Amino acid sequence: MKNKTYYPVLLLFTILCILPASVLADEKKEETIYDQRLALYKKTETITEIPWYFIAAVDQYERQIHKDIEEDQVISIRIPDEIWYGAGNNSTDINTIQLFQGIGKDGNGDHKADPTNGEDVLYTMASYIKKYGYTEEDFKIALWNYYNRDLTVQTIKNTAKVFKKFNGIHLTDRDFPVATNYNYSYRNTWGDRRGFGGNRIHEGTDIFADYGTPVHSTTYGVVELKGWNLYGGWRIGIRDIFNIYHYYAHLSGYEEELKVGQIVKPGDVIGSVGSTGYGPPGTSGKFPPHLHYGMYKDNGYSEWSFDPYPYLRKWERMAKNK
Ligand SMILES: [Zn+2]
Repeated sequence: MKNKTYYPVLLLFTILCILPASVLADEKKEETIYDQRLALYKKTETITEIPWYFIAAVDQYERQIHKDIEEDQVISIRIPDEIWYGAGNNSTDINTIQLFQGIGKDGNGDHKADPTNGEDVLYTMASYIKKYGYTEEDFKIALWNYYNRDLTVQTIKNTAKVFKKFNGIHLTDRDFPVATNYNYSYRNTWGDRRGFGGNRIHEGTDIFADYGTPVHSTTYGVVELKGWNLYGGWRIGIRDIFNIYHYYAHLSGYEEELKVGQIVKPGDVIGSVGSTGYGPPGTSGKFPPHLHYGMYKDNGYSEWSFDPYPYLRKWERMAKNK
């Protein structure tokens, strides 16, 4: 009888113990992969003197361009076999690779250069970068010779700047693009037809708000573009560390001193809501004031727009729960 009285108490106690533990385990797992990555980047910096944030930015970029990256995969850089092993070779032996003029190197000390081993890959990439030197300019040239694509070079260079400035890689915070303590409204307008400019499809979400409502950066990133566009009026483009370009259009004005190349974080004021566009520079008032917000993903070959609405809903909740 005594045991029966205690049973529900014990059960409740067990539930209380298990629930927070599983939530904690998930968070811990996420922490661990960022920690593991950072530790490997810093280890690679120690042995090559290439700043960890250069190496981290290359890895971050490659994580976005390969379709089959596993969620728990620590390092995502993939060096093409021909470059790794040297043409005609498939041995991981470091002397054989050298003989065949491959660039694959041994980063973990097992005398093998394994393109699927994270430490070997990071050491190889850092050694490749090192051939060009240690400065930002050298890094840029190394990237250009490796990827042969301006947007890729710019994205990696900017990601490195963001990692350096915030001294970390775990940058998962976000914000809603319109200050949530102001009046605003939006609905899903993805793919709607629009009047001006022929048969263009609406590539974004319109967030209606009064003139002057602060516009916030939604992410960590770098200002890639600022200025007038026939359709967008005064607009800003920010590329984040996930190869995503965030486009803010029809602004009434910009935050003072905001310039191309500047690093931003979620919540930074970048401008204010307006109704500019649909005409020559300065045209305003042809439609009700709103922020046009668009998102474009780059996969290393091409860029395409996708629906920002689900993200806006999520970031709105995040912003309101702060
Ligand atoms: Zn729009």
